[in-house]
Amino acid sequence: MDDTRYVGRFAPSPTGPLHFGSLVAALASYLDARANQGRWHLRIDDVDRGRARADARQAIIDGLARLGLHWDGEIVDQSRQTHHYQAALERLQSRAMAYPCGCTRRAVMARARRGPAGMIYPGTCRDGLPPGTAARSWRFRSPERAIEFHDRCMGQQSIQLDEAIGDFVIRRGDGLHAYHLAMVVDDARLGVTDIVRGADLLPATAPQIALQQALALPTPRYLHIPVATDHTGRKLSKTNGAAAIDPASAPALLCRALAFLGQMPPQKLERAAPSAILDWAVAHWRTEAIPRHAPL
Ligand code: GLU
Repeated sequence: MDDTRYVGRFAPSPTGPLHFGSLVAALASYLDARANQGRWHLRIDDVDRGRARADARQAIIDGLARLGLHWDGEIVDQSRQTHHYQAALERLQSRAMAYPCGCTRRAVMARARRGPAGMIYPGTCRDGLPPGTAARSWRFRSPERAIEFHDRCMGQQSIQLDEAIGDFVIRRGDGLHAYHLAMVVDDARLGVTDIVRGADLLPATAPQIALQQALALPTPRYLHIPVATDHTGRKLSKTNGAAAIDPASAPALLCRALAFLGQMPPQKLERAAPSAILDWAVAHWRTEAIPRHAPL
């Protein structure tokens, strides 16, 4: 039996090649896993088939390999896990923790209040579909209590889901299972104990913890790292055209990513091989040094 106590993962969406922001997330999750003698998995988050690109999947895999970030086990593709998401959805349905919703996006927008993380679903279909309305999606019945968790970088968090997003979609109108449900099911199936990812996903954590609790799945530890931005302060992302990583400059990039994470690589490492840089970084990994905000 595998008694590894730390299991981490990097879970990119295949919408473009790795860029500096996703490299930082990959590196942080890799270092935290290896510094804790843990396993580190690669999952391709292609649950949203319309946005996924086959060439991006391969570019991410090649980019990680060239940077020396080697993962354990088989790559998990979300697009192949649909039956597990469906089983989880049916568990929630059978416990009345999910309900059918007939609202179009436009109908939600017309009635919703704006919360800190986007629109708050107004609860139109919570007590049953309005007469003459057909079901389109399925929503999770969010608990009316605060979800509390401690983030290893961002500190203690307390989120009242009904005031932040309300009941959220777990199966979309187009039949695809939604990101929060897929995430929670996959992380539990991989036995993930530690999630290390960008702080842009901090608001996703409370809905995901609520789903874990509803499905009686363990809640991992969380560490959200600051998000890399461009010179205008905009988050770097694969979809807003952030420049892809040139593998020839892997050592300099790894050192820049380490500095971004508050780690202090000695200057001579910039000329070392990626494996030597990573060895140093695992041996010197200090989560206390990670800044809460991206350095300017
Ligand atoms: N697939 C998500 C993204 O690329 C990350 C999911 C996660 O790390 O939890 O933004």
